[in-house]
Amino acid sequence: MKALRLLMLEDTDTDAEIISYTLKSQGLDADICRVQDEAAYTAALVTFRPDLILADYTLPGFSGLEALAIRNERARSTPFIFVSGSLGEEKAVETLRTGATDYVLKDRLHRLPAAVTRALQEAKQREDKQRIAAELEAERKLIRAIQDTAKALIIVIDAQGHIQHINPEAARVLGQPRLQLIGSIFWNTCVSEHDTKATRHQLRLAFKSARKGSQVWRATSRNGQAIMWSSSILDTGVRQSSRIVLCGIDITAQEIAEERVHFLDNFDEVTGLPNRKLFLQQLTSACEKFTLQPDHKLVVMLISFPRFDEIRDSRGEAVINHIMAVMVQRLRAWQKRNQLLARVSDSGFALAFETDETHPMSDVVAEVQAITGRSIEFEGMQFVLPSHIGTATYPRDAGEALPLLQAAEAALHSAEFQREQGHTAYRSLLTVESNERLQLESELRRALQQDELVLYYQPQIDVRSGQMIGLEALVRWQHPRLGLLSPDTFIHMAESAGMMRELGSRVIHSACAQIREWRQQGYQPPRVAINVSASQFSTPELPEYIAALLRDYGLDGNAIGLELTESASMKNPQATTAIMARLRLRDVSLSIDDFGTGYSNLSYLKRFPINHLKLDKAFVQDIADDADDLAIARTIIAMGTQLEIDVIAEGVETEEQLQLLSKAGCHHVQGYLFSPPVPAASCPALFSYPFAPVTGTLRSRKGQRA
Ligand code: C2E
Ligand code: CA
Ligand code: CA
Repeated sequence: MKALRLLMLEDTDTDAEIISYTLKSQGLDADICRVQDEAAYTAALVTFRPDLILADYTLPGFSGLEALAIRNERARSTPFIFVSGSLGEEKAVETLRTGATDYVLKDRLHRLPAAVTRALQEAKQREDKQRIAAELEAERKLIRAIQDTAKALIIVIDAQGHIQHINPEAARVLGQPRLQLIGSIFWNTCVSEHDTKATRHQLRLAFKSARKGSQVWRATSRNGQAIMWSSSILDTGVRQSSRIVLCGIDITAQEIAEERVHFLDNFDEVTGLPNRKLFLQQLTSACEKFTLQPDHKLVVMLISFPRFDEIRDSRGEAVINHIMAVMVQRLRAWQKRNQLLARVSDSGFALAFETDETHPMSDVVAEVQAITGRSIEFEGMQFVLPSHIGTATYPRDAGEALPLLQAAEAALHSAEFQREQGHTAYRSLLTVESNERLQLESELRRALQQDELVLYYQPQIDVRSGQMIGLEALVRWQHPRLGLLSPDTFIHMAESAGMMRELGSRVIHSACAQIREWRQQGYQPPRVAINVSASQFSTPELPEYIAALLRDYGLDGNAIGLELTESASMKNPQATTAIMARLRLRDVSLSIDDFGTGYSNLSYLKRFPINHLKLDKAFVQDIADDADDLAIARTIIAMGTQLEIDVIAEGVETEEQLQLLSKAGCHHVQGYLFSPPVPAASCPALFSYPFAPVTGTLRSRKGQRA
């Protein structure tokens, strides 16, 4: 430790020696500077810088009191102790009042070390206190400077919400004078009425959770600024009730920018209508909300105006914008149930609406063409715009929004092929003209090479348990120009053009690959049923081919099943039986598809080693209205039970159909009532999903999950 620096004002040598000795004997290691007159004393204060001063009271030509006065002036914080021969009570008090730290009488020098120690301690404490006070002051200045310059809103409130402190930025952003805000209730003056309740709730939480983290919420201010607030508890002391510091950030500009980005991302700037992206979202929820009722459908209609480009090129953008605005007005006025209107392309609109079958599509289309075909005036000129219209219907043409829109796009494309104003429904693409058919045929050849075929999967449900017992793989063609095409458009063509084997083997490959992928992802997909054509089934090496394929993909036979139509199975029943038997040896399950539509030879049916009969959807569809269909369905179900062949009813769309089938003893079903065919990516969500028997209004399963 550093030696104590002691300044001793003492004229008597012996006294000085005794004092030094006393201190040393008590272990006080001091570096002593002794002075005897005013000049030396004053100089030592500067040069020696004592930690403590010991002064005699009476000195020749100088006095202790004068020394004290000098110390008061020049070294106020240095402790000063009088060491004196005699000092009356009165003088002693006087010395203390004028600033001496202590006094010790020379005949009681044994008290000196303790007095010195205490004086030094007190001096140290005083010094610490001063230092801390200075530091606190500096800190306060810093905080105030930060608050005053910060671009954040800083407000302190008490437990009742009274504003105790508010920084200039907060007053500026909130648009009210600081003095007016201080003392007011925060949620009454700083937050819009709409957000008052939520803000109080957040603050209540903040007070409750005390020090555990902070709340963050957004509130609009009285003057309409968007503020992101966060809170933290300031103190929870016993004496002082809690206060909260609120820190707000003005996010108004950011929100405006975000809104703009959102607008540009989802809307067409010219018409203010939703763009294709938003339309697709709206269509998705329209499909989910759509309630399946007899004779009721959801139509997507695309309208394009072939003269748009010509008018734009010759007359400029202003005319087009005007025409657009008029068209929007007219189409909006054409009130249809749950109507959606969007601008999905440069030269056209998309509509979606619900309608019933009693209103034929040709009438609906004629209405639209009448509305849009009326002449439009612009700067004295009349414009008449013929249109092309493409339509697709949910859930008949597609079970989901994107393929539905693509189907309508394909139909529009086809309508545009015809030069005249016209309409094509997606369905009519199924009977395309022969030259187009040739083109499609060559495109299908290319599609096979370029992997444009995709599989959709439709669940098969045991209605008693709600369990999925199988998935049927249904092929689709993702056509680059026409959109997603249903198998009805191209299966026959593939068959007649000799592409069916190739197509079939692609389907089996990709179904097996899909099963393997699901398993690798940890799912346990049910048996996947694959449709096979007559030509595939008449190949004798089919069982070996399938066995090799299953080996390649590491799958057992029971991972898949094959569906063969009734008519195909009866073409050469003997050969069919032999192939079936070899497939059954490998555990591959077998179904007769579209059962009831062909003319089965029952003796063969009995001999076929099959697992399932699929009751054709033609019977299911009319089962509630047509007594004959109901009778046929019952007979087929009873026959299945007799032969111990499981019957799966397909095309189940309504609860009524479901009830009748159940009553007849058929518990395995497939149909829109439970789920449309969905892309592979949507299947895992269904694996663990129990399909509850439907009661009440009927909806597509998607709708129920949402
Ligand atoms: P399918 O084997 O009778 O398949 C059932 C068809 O009924 C599917 O049509 C399915 O989407 C539709 N469907 C499902 N639930 C309902 C419902 O509740 N109501 C109605 N009305 N229909 C429903 P999709 O997918 O258009 O397939 C049509 C046909 O194309 C299939 O009839 C099948 O014969 C054939 N097909 C599909 N994929 C393949 C394949 O990979 N290979 C072969 N050879 N043929 C296939
Ligand atoms: Ca089938
Ligand atoms: Ca079928």
